Amino acid sequence: MVLIDGKAVAQKVRNEVKENVQKDNFIYPPHLAIIRVGDDPASATYVKNKTKASQEVGIEVEDIHLTECTQESLENLIENLNYEEIVDGILVQLPLPSYFDSDKILNLINPKKDVDGFTDINMGKLFANKECTVACTPAGIMRLLDEYNIEIEGKKVVIVGRSNIVGKPMAALMLNRNATVTICHSKTKNLKKECLQADILIVAIGRPKFITADMVKEGAVVIDVGINRDENNRLCGDVDFENVAPKCSFITPVPGGVGPMTVAMLMKNTYEAMKKRYE
Ligand code: NDP
Repeated sequence: MVLIDGKAVAQKVRNEVKENVQKDNFIYPPHLAIIRVGDDPASATYVKNKTKASQEVGIEVEDIHLTECTQESLENLIENLNYEEIVDGILVQLPLPSYFDSDKILNLINPKKDVDGFTDINMGKLFANKECTVACTPAGIMRLLDEYNIEIEGKKVVIVGRSNIVGKPMAALMLNRNATVTICHSKTKNLKKECLQADILIVAIGRPKFITADMVKEGAVVIDVGINRDENNRLCGDVDFENVAPKCSFITPVPGGVGPMTVAMLMKNTYEAMKKRYE
């Protein structure tokens, strides 16, 4: 069994971005506007991590924290950032407080500045297999698989979870690479039977240690996206790592697997958004 080292691959991606930024040496470095509304502590931590990672690779961060804000004023803010030439990327930290129409907010972002890849335009292009910005977590998973030379074409890929930020874009990426893809969700009839078919099993449901050893085929590649707390308040994934790992050819740990890749791919998407500005 090979443990996939997400920290190492993420560092490699970040180094690549840093080298590129230094090599370009543009007057205006890549510029990322991060918008956070309210005081959700988890969001504050995510923004802090993204800001730190950005600064390390030479991306300038505009940290916009609004304690209170209306739908209309947030819409105006995004429109303004869309027009500002030096802004390459706009990221709205989710979740927004519940009174916002999040879908409308996200879709106001100019798709060229949509470094999270969440706009309908980028999602639609991904499903049409056209050039676009891909959501960071699924993009990071593809990079992990490629770094470990894991073959995708012709493989049976089972994805558990169908969210717009992980499951669905993941499925599109896999289809675009000629895998045979099954997407499972809470209404799937026989989840164990589906999972046992998987050469590559990707799990993003948000339930601690939900995928057990009897659900995994011998020799499968297992990618665990989940970030949960177990009964001892320790970080754990959606996969029962201890018992599943011995059956796998490759597996990602939690923490240290998919998580670090998400931030690294945000750096890459922001850099690429800037490059396109100069094309
Ligand atoms: P969502 O809550 O948006 O989606 C969860 C999905 O899992 C839904 O499609 C749901 O099905 C499905 N699901 C829930 N319970 C079951 C079940 N018992 N059997 C089968 N399917 C089920 O979650 P996200 O996609 O946003 O996140 C999933 C996990 O990944 C979370 O732990 C999150 O913290 C983590 N995450 C980690 C990231 C990283 O960087 N490592 C980035 C993003 C997320 P249905 O649609 O039918 O409701």
